[in-house]
Amino acid sequence: MNKITRILFEVRKHYKFKWVKRSFEDVIVQTILSQHTSDKNSLKAFENLKKRFKNYNELLSEKDSELEKTIRNAGLSKIKTKRIKKALKELKKIDLKKLSKENSLKIQKELTKIHGVGPKTAAIAVMFGLGKQAIPVDTHVFRVSKRLGIAKGKTPAKVQEELEKKIPEKFKALLHISLIDIGRTVCKPRNPRCSKCILRKNCEYYKNVFNSLNF
Ligand code: SF4
Repeated sequence: MNKITRILFEVRKHYKFKWVKRSFEDVIVQTILSQHTSDKNSLKAFENLKKRFKNYNELLSEKDSELEKTIRNAGLSKIKTKRIKKALKELKKIDLKKLSKENSLKIQKELTKIHGVGPKTAAIAVMFGLGKQAIPVDTHVFRVSKRLGIAKGKTPAKVQEELEKKIPEKFKALLHISLIDIGRTVCKPRNPRCSKCILRKNCEYYKNVFNSLNF
């Protein structure tokens, strides 16, 4: 068994991916709100936005200042307001029904043409908005993949490209949610709790620390 197969074997024992359908627009808006802020702040901003506007048409018809005020919890509200409005306008021009028949990577590529939608946002939108396989690389997936030694890229976008090629299609979403959970709970940026990690036997970082302790 190669390393990725062994990791997937462990992950499948502990995690399940259950797709809960969300609107495509919601996923894009929520992901833009989550840029450069905590989950808690972006969630609060998204809740405020959903309470304040009946639908996205109403949001688009309001002044920028109204949206800026509503999403201020997420920070960078001027930039995010512009991104959200632009993304929603551009999404309206896309035939989502037709596009959703394409394969995951092709859809992601199309979505990254929208201003403010990078590879991670596009992959999240495809995964949660359409229920297709993808492996969005956020800060947790980036850190854990590098420590495990399954990716070498220096940026999340590069690691996402690598994992897209290496991970078997049907396990991408599962690996995504697993690595996020592992990153949040044990593989913290500082002092990872390797003794509690289900992947330690397959981890490069753990192997190096363990070897150095034996010298
Ligand atoms: S063994 Fe340690 S470094 Fe490796 S993935 Fe688990 S927590 Fe992170």
